[in-house]
Amino acid sequence: MICNNLSVNEKGHLAFAGQDTVELAKEYKTPLYLIDEDRIRYNCRVYVNAFSKYFSNGSYPIYAGKANCFKRIYEIIKEEGMGCDVVSLGEMYTAIKAGFPLEKAFFHSNNKTDDDIDFAIEHKIGHFVVDSKDELLAINEIAAKHCVKQKILLRITPGIDPHTYEAVNTGKVDSKFGSAIQTGQAQEITGVALKLENIVLDGFHCHVGSQVFDSDTFIRSADIMLRFIRDMKEKYGYVAPILNLGGGYGVRYTENDPVIDIDKNISLVSGKINEMCEKYAIDLPKIVMEPGRSIVADAGLTLYTVGSIKRIPEYKNYVSIDGGMTDNPRYALYGSTYTAFVANKMNEEKDFCASIVGRCCESGDIIQENVPLPSTVQRGDTIAVLTTGAYNYSMSSNYNRLPKPPIVALSNGESRVVVKRETLEDIIRNDI
Ligand SMILES: *Cc1c(COP(=O)(O)O)cnc(C)c1O
Repeated sequence: MICNNLSVNEKGHLAFAGQDTVELAKEYKTPLYLIDEDRIRYNCRVYVNAFSKYFSNGSYPIYAGKANCFKRIYEIIKEEGMGCDVVSLGEMYTAIKAGFPLEKAFFHSNNKTDDDIDFAIEHKIGHFVVDSKDELLAINEIAAKHCVKQKILLRITPGIDPHTYEAVNTGKVDSKFGSAIQTGQAQEITGVALKLENIVLDGFHCHVGSQVFDSDTFIRSADIMLRFIRDMKEKYGYVAPILNLGGGYGVRYTENDPVIDIDKNISLVSGKINEMCEKYAIDLPKIVMEPGRSIVADAGLTLYTVGSIKRIPEYKNYVSIDGGMTDNPRYALYGSTYTAFVANKMNEEKDFCASIVGRCCESGDIIQENVPLPSTVQRGDTIAVLTTGAYNYSMSSNYNRLPKPPIVALSNGESRVVVKRETLEDIIRNDI
């Protein structure tokens, strides 16, 4: 199995976090998101422990909330000693309501409105990650109104192509995010930030992409960013206290995806940082990293009930489920790969091939094409799609006015609802 929180029990059912998924589907109905809290904690600890071993004092990992955002997640992240990043007032509000200390939060987004900035300063956000000069000036002005000196990082574009999907690639010079080193804009915005009365420049940030497997990517970006830090020291006499290297470590969606040793990767990045700082005679910055996917992806699994099955002889086969692109748009968006099983028939031979499709009025509403399944698959069976903890619930929609599934958290053999299933009344709650 692709993650050790999966197994097959004595009934031939798929077990997740030690619990029978077929029983969970019966109890909580489908579609259903499951989240394995113990796995989230395990993933957090890998980062927290590696950070304390390899990086300078005051370094810490932060969870990128956009991967999966609801109140319970922030409670866990807080208990595990991580910070968080938020990209909107919705995420920030969720964190606030979960009691997350906002001084350990970083506010991202390539376009923060004046209202966003005002709200964040009012709630004492720790850092803004500033994307552009327009935004920098706006934050300075709004901070002045609040009589505060606002801490910020500047988002820098290092000019790296991490060889992942185009849509999640954010580190190239022509990216919509950040200020590029190559064009001189990164240097210019640093000069501006250092002069502003109500801004405290606390360092630099970069994020080059997502679902990154090659260990070289973070080393290359650390290298470029430390050279930039050295250049800023030479030009302005400014030594950056914080270097935030972004998120992006990949996870296993299928058996073909490699296993990443995060601890080892972080030790390699740290080795590079120490070497460069010594070479350039700059103080070791505090390091921040922003994992999202690698914290929650393998802690999630989605259950569906099979509806109709369509066999089109000599063409293809379809297995329809009671969810789809509304709860998991990733195949529709990126052609993402997933592993899926008939959860109640784990020991049967997979002698049939079908596309698992959703119930929306879109031909592109596909969870996965050409999935090997038992030919006995029938209406009423339970389908499990693995590794859905990241960018599923957070990207879900009400297209076709489908209510969103609930999230049931599993821990220590117990299960409980942490996000309720939407009702038909929820669907019309804002209609007048
Ligand atoms: C999306 C994002 C992350 C998290 O990326 P993962 O691939 O989920 O680890 C971190 N930082 C920024 C700025 C992002 O946009």
